[in-house]
Amino acid sequence: MNYRHAYHAGNFADCMKHALFARILNYLAQKDAPFRVIDTHAGIGLYDLGGAEAGKTLEWQAGIARLATPLEGDAEALLSPYRTALADVAARFGAGFYPGSPLLASLLMRRQDRAIFVEKHPADVGVLTENLGHDRRAKVLELDGWTALRAMIPPVERRGVVLIDPPFEVEGEMGRLGRALVEAHRKWGGGVFVGWYPIKGPREPEELAGMLRTSGVPKILRLEMLVDRTDDATRLNGSGLVVINPPWTLATEAEVLLPALAQRLARGDRAGFRCEWLAGE
Ligand code: SAM
Repeated sequence: MNYRHAYHAGNFADCMKHALFARILNYLAQKDAPFRVIDTHAGIGLYDLGGAEAGKTLEWQAGIARLATPLEGDAEALLSPYRTALADVAARFGAGFYPGSPLLASLLMRRQDRAIFVEKHPADVGVLTENLGHDRRAKVLELDGWTALRAMIPPVERRGVVLIDPPFEVEGEMGRLGRALVEAHRKWGGGVFVGWYPIKGPREPEELAGMLRTSGVPKILRLEMLVDRTDDATRLNGSGLVVINPPWTLATEAEVLLPALAQRLARGDRAGFRCEWLAGE
């Protein structure tokens, strides 16, 4: 377990993932009934972009720093829940701090909502608890996220979202993600499931898509943002999310948001996006 998100926080992939995750949370918050957030690979929830780790890669400069001015057209309005959370973080911790998915979730949850944040790295669990300000709506657990997920669904609320955001540092993690999504949907048919994956070359995302297309799971949306061409598979060239049971508004929103984000976060001349139903609609 060498992956440390502090080196990558606020990069283009975080911006894409968090902007869409915030839209899903925003959608869930429109009904009074409580929802549950389960984040299987949580990280520490708050990152200092001026710190040593972020300073080594400076990835955030090609990510969140480029969102300092509003996106063009209708896309900016769709960033609003993400922007609100970013503004809260800046007010509370200072301008150079960036939220991870648990803090983002806790900022967009209401009093009645609950969250479970799972992280395997022993040192991170205490740091995340601190960073969440000991939020009593949230449980932070030191566990293996893949195993924990099986035990935690369906939650009592029967509505909510699961984020699976593994580090992809071991062989076969893409396949594992696909299988975990299918298995989780079998246990909780009404949950919203979000799986993040890196886009380096085209092969692995295609394999994941192919597996999900034939899985029998209905309503799967594939959302991708490319910042560059994919012929150099040694680099991270894009960011992908598969969403099972997406809010009915999400595909339309992604069609507006993803091209604007891709244009703003482009590294090369082949930036682009994909919004495709793998199953159902
Ligand atoms: N979801 C976070 C966010 O958006 O801010 C980023 C998560 S980062 C990509 C992946 C995290 O998974 C790391 O903090 C790593 O320590 C943790 N991790 C690695 N293997 C794990 C496992 N088997 N179960 C739970 N967490 C794990």
